[in-house]
Amino acid sequence: MPTTLQPWVAAWIGLGSNQDDPQAQIQRAIEALKQLPDTHCLRVSGLYANPPFGPIPQPDYVNAVVGLLTRLTPRVLLGALQQIELAAGRNRSDSQRWGPRPLDLDLLTYGVRQIAEHGLKVPHPGIAERNFVLLPLLEVAPSLQIPGLPSIAHMASSVGRSGILRLG
Ligand code: ATP
Ligand code: CA
Ligand code: CA
Repeated sequence: MPTTLQPWVAAWIGLGSNQDDPQAQIQRAIEALKQLPDTHCLRVSGLYANPPFGPIPQPDYVNAVVGLLTRLTPRVLLGALQQIELAAGRNRSDSQRWGPRPLDLDLLTYGVRQIAEHGLKVPHPGIAERNFVLLPLLEVAPSLQIPGLPSIAHMASSVGRSGILRLG
């Protein structure tokens, strides 16, 4: 019998893919997130095509965000995200940081928690600079207040819309 039940917490996930049919990868990942135990999927953004980030030449990305309500702890949720990445063919041992990958799932926020542990930083440190995170968030969670950061609308207007295209 479970001893303690975690409280329900809203968590936002950033999804990205630029290998092996990125749109299909993102759709499959959304379905996988919907199947997570002790978790409900509350919001799914549109898909955004986006040029790659960082120094490595590689195909364009498809990005999206998903809002969950979960009872999984942040560590368990991160582990579940990494399992979904592995099932999509992500190979952590030889993948360069910011290199091409079939699926990348980042834990963007976990309620109002601020976590700075080895292997787990929440809110995700890249949010404020990434229009491929901010524009999907602006679409489905414009009033989300991320701990330690200005409003989504403020950050989105600072980074601009250069290069990003909403699909469909
Ligand atoms: P970035 O994190 O800048 O978007 P990335 O997604 O390419 O880069 P990865 O190679 O996917 O980076 O992950 C590197 C490590 O980041 C993982 O091993 C994981 O433990 C750690 N990490 C820390 N905080 C988070 C988080 N909030 N979400 C996902 N991974 C995180
Ligand atoms: Ca990432
Ligand atoms: Ca990642």
